[in-house]
Amino acid sequence: MLPAMFTMKCPSCRKTHVFIHRSMFPMNQLVELKEECEVCGQKFKSERNNGGGINYALTMILFFLNLCWYWPIFGLSYKDKSVWYYLLTSTVVVLIAQPYLMRLSRMIYLYLYVGFGNSRRVTIDEKKS
Ligand SMILES: [Zn+2]
Repeated sequence: MLPAMFTMKCPSCRKTHVFIHRSMFPMNQLVELKEECEVCGQKFKSERNNGGGINYALTMILFFLNLCWYWPIFGLSYKDKSVWYYLLTSTVVVLIAQPYLMRLSRMIYLYLYVGFGNSRRVTIDEKKS
């Protein structure tokens, strides 16, 4: 399940890519999902939540992960400015990783609501538009 999730595959059949554009560009269509899966017919677009909350959580996790490598390499102390350098470095890393995090948070959301082989059932509430 995890490899399929990280490569942005359909949560139900794990065969197709869920995003319209395989690459990160164009940026404004970064998180555009396909209407549904071509293979199993699983709907992707009916999700209500855009994964914003998960994205926030991932950002926090990334900040923590940055701490894990930054601390042993550069050292971290409240006596000097190293905390600020750490925050700056983390922010840059998070910004660079943001396009991927935005997609990944959507994927996590889809995987939470669509189980493997659940394509025939409607598992996500349809958005009434
Ligand atoms: Zn599918």
